[in-house]
Amino acid sequence: MAFEDLLEDPVIQKYLHELVGPKGMPVAAAPPDGEVTDEELAEELDLELNDVRRALFILYENDLASYRRLRDEDSGWLTYLWTFQYDNIPENLEEEMYRLHDSLVERREYEATHEFYLCEVDSIRFEFGEAMEFGFECPECGSALESLDNDRLVDAMDRRIGELRDELNIEPEEVDVEV
Ligand SMILES: [Zn+2]
Repeated sequence: MAFEDLLEDPVIQKYLHELVGPKGMPVAAAPPDGEVTDEELAEELDLELNDVRRALFILYENDLASYRRLRDEDSGWLTYLWTFQYDNIPENLEEEMYRLHDSLVERREYEATHEFYLCEVDSIRFEFGEAMEFGFECPECGSALESLDNDRLVDAMDRRIGELRDELNIEPEEVDVEV
C-alpha cells in the first residue's frame, strides 16, 4: 500500500494517534519519502524540536521509523537521518487486533462466569464474594447492593469479538469460547 492510501485509512490514523498523541500526529501523518532530520521536520511542520523527537522515537520503538547517525567531521556534531517505515503498519495493526481479541475473550469469560453486585449510589461494582463479605451493603455509603445484570455487556463484547474475528479471519472453532 502507498503511504497516501495508508494514511487515509481511519483505523491507521487512530492507531498512529494512539501511538504518538496529538502533538506527534503532524510528524506521524506526514511521512516524507527518503531521509529527513528532526530539525528539518520541526521547521517544515512548525513544531517544537522536542515534540518531533518524541514522536520519532515512538515510531522507532514501534518499528515504524529507523535512523542512521552521521558525524560532521569538522564540528563533531551528530546528525540523525530518519527514514519512515510505514510498510510495517498493517502487520503491527494486526498484532494489536489479535491482542485486543485475546484480552476481550478473556474479559468476556470473566464477565460471563461471575456474578456482580452494584451500589447504585456510588456506581461501584462488587464481585459476589466481595458483596457477601460486606453483607450486601456498600462499604462506602451503606446502601443495599443490587444484583447487577451484565448480559448486555457480555453481548456487546460478543459482537466486538465477532467483528474482530471477521477482520482477522479467525474461525470461531479456533477459540474455545461460545459466541
Ligand atoms: Zn455506595
